[in-house]
Amino acid sequence: MSGATASSGGHDGTHGDTPVDPREGAAEFRDDVTVELVRSAARDADVLFAARVSTKGEQSLEDVEGDAERSKGLVNYLMRSRHGSPFEHNSMTFYVQAPIFVFRELMRHRMASYNEESGRYRELRPVFYVPGPDRQLVQEGKPGHYQFLDGTPDQHKLVEEETRHQCVEAYAAYQRMLDAGIAREVARIVLPLTIYSSAYVTVNARSLMNFLSLRVRNDESTYPSYPQREIEMVAEQMEAAWAELMPVSHAAFQRNGRVAP
Ligand SMILES: Cc1cc2nc3c(=O)[nH]c(=O)nc-3n(C[C@H](O)[C@H](O)[C@H](O)COP(=O)(O)OP(=O)(O)OC[C@H]3O[C@@H](n4cnc5c(N)ncnc54)[C@H](O)[C@@H]3O)c2cc1C
Repeated sequence: MSGATASSGGHDGTHGDTPVDPREGAAEFRDDVTVELVRSAARDADVLFAARVSTKGEQSLEDVEGDAERSKGLVNYLMRSRHGSPFEHNSMTFYVQAPIFVFRELMRHRMASYNEESGRYRELRPVFYVPGPDRQLVQEGKPGHYQFLDGTPDQHKLVEEETRHQCVEAYAAYQRMLDAGIAREVARIVLPLTIYSSAYVTVNARSLMNFLSLRVRNDESTYPSYPQREIEMVAEQMEAAWAELMPVSHAAFQRNGRVAP
């Protein structure tokens, strides 16, 4: 597969200004998503100062390391008792490249802030998602509790060929309409949901935990969720970045069954 790496494409999503004819092989097919932490102000200490004001009533910007065990204990207590507001005094901004069907799910999470590239103001690039060889393809079970099984080589081949064919045809139709002077906002209606978009997503740790509790499947979850794999790929990368910034809070989230406080 000609899958691009996670770093492919510029931050503005451009891939050069050369006119593109996907029928000549210029379409790009990826099986990954990009998630980059572009800005953050997020530390475990931010949770502590917010929590301690309730008993100290004064500025209490303390280092977590000052009394590491006590700090861990307080963060764990806050998480366990679902005292969630101290986890709001921080901010993380992610740059995300993902197919539009992922953004449809992502934007259901109203506690995040979003800004997405426009298909009205710019020509969309022919970059499409096609499931990779590790993507499980066969669904079994009942709604809300599906199990997924590996596909056969023939099933993988079918998914890849059909997806590529439809994307190339749809993009050619898009180009024909643009060439005929049709507005971008009209021509784009033929493009598939698997075309990539890009957006900035800003969250705080509390809103991120709500998102992670729903969009990552984890055996230790008190309330297991069964998300679509592609949004889970976004969520996993966000979780890894958050765990690095706020390891004590992340450990408490995991220890307490991944219940968002
Ligand atoms: C596995 C899975 C399957 C799904 N399937 C479907 C589906 O088939 N169809 C579908 O439409 N959606 C579906 N969803 C989306 C789901 O219904 C939620 O819209 C999505 O998970 C966002 O969750 P949220 O509302 O908690 O997040 P946020 O919007 O970030 O809200 C966070 C929390 O804030 C509070 N809140 C936010 N807004 C309000 C409000 N207006 N009123 C009261 N409280 C509020 C709630 O406590 C909420 O939990 C699915 C989600 C998952 C994880």
